[in-house]
Amino acid sequence: MSQSPSHVNGKLYVVGIGPGSLEHMTLRAHTVIKEADIILGNGTYLDQIKDLVSTQQVFRSSMGHEVERAKKAIDLAVDNKVVMVSGGDSNIYGMAGLVLEVARQVDLSVDIEIVPGITALSAAASLLGAPVVTDFAVISLSDLLTPWEVIEKRLHAAAEADMIIGIYNPKSRQRNTNFQKAIKIIRRSRVDTVPVGIVRNALRTEGESVTVTTLGNILDHDDEVDMRTTIIIGNSESGIWGSRIITPRGYHKKYDY
Ligand code: SAH
Repeated sequence: MSQSPSHVNGKLYVVGIGPGSLEHMTLRAHTVIKEADIILGNGTYLDQIKDLVSTQQVFRSSMGHEVERAKKAIDLAVDNKVVMVSGGDSNIYGMAGLVLEVARQVDLSVDIEIVPGITALSAAASLLGAPVVTDFAVISLSDLLTPWEVIEKRLHAAAEADMIIGIYNPKSRQRNTNFQKAIKIIRRSRVDTVPVGIVRNALRTEGESVTVTTLGNILDHDDEVDMRTTIIIGNSESGIWGSRIITPRGYHKKYDY
């Protein structure tokens, strides 16, 4: 996007700030946040980067006002260096898509840079050991923007294909039964002994918790699952070693060790 018209002096950065702690943020994210004139984001994410804020102007908004926030960021970026913060990675259920969609719609060619970040799946996987070293699918259980029938279809297909499954947005106040429904669908095509990891507040400074269980027992841990949790369901070859999950990549079939 280098064709900014001459009246555009600013730039818009959509920045994935990683799972929570500053140590797990990229250097690029750190730099653009420090050098921004204006930062926009929802309260949770702004709290996570508060140590990087000094003279930047900050606009806090609540969840559910994403379209407004994207429009405002684009307007402000005509004359300012603007950072729109997004949790984890800026693509994966993040703000990158909406910002580019709105920019295309209003046909205002501000310079936009998408800065990636560590996504919740990578953060959760690292705490569990090595559950995601081969093919995987990530599915969000939020049916605010995707119809539930489509989510069911994807869950079924991923389970049938023996993909490792990462579940985002497992629950919210409005949707606390979607998780149980999803597990029921996965259990149709995956055995109960398959390892499952439940990771809450991964790599955040507060509230981190990690549980390793199995598909057959996961609903006993239903109360540990909330909107700050990522679930990883292993494939048919995944195993448990102490407090860790390991999915073999296949080396053992070729080499002795
Ligand atoms: N863009 C984000 C995902 C946004 S969707 C990313 O790339 O990580 C929000 C969902 O992500 C939450 O409901 C939860 O399932 C997951 N999530 C985000 N941060 C998390 C964290 N630190 N620990 C566990 N799950 C997290």
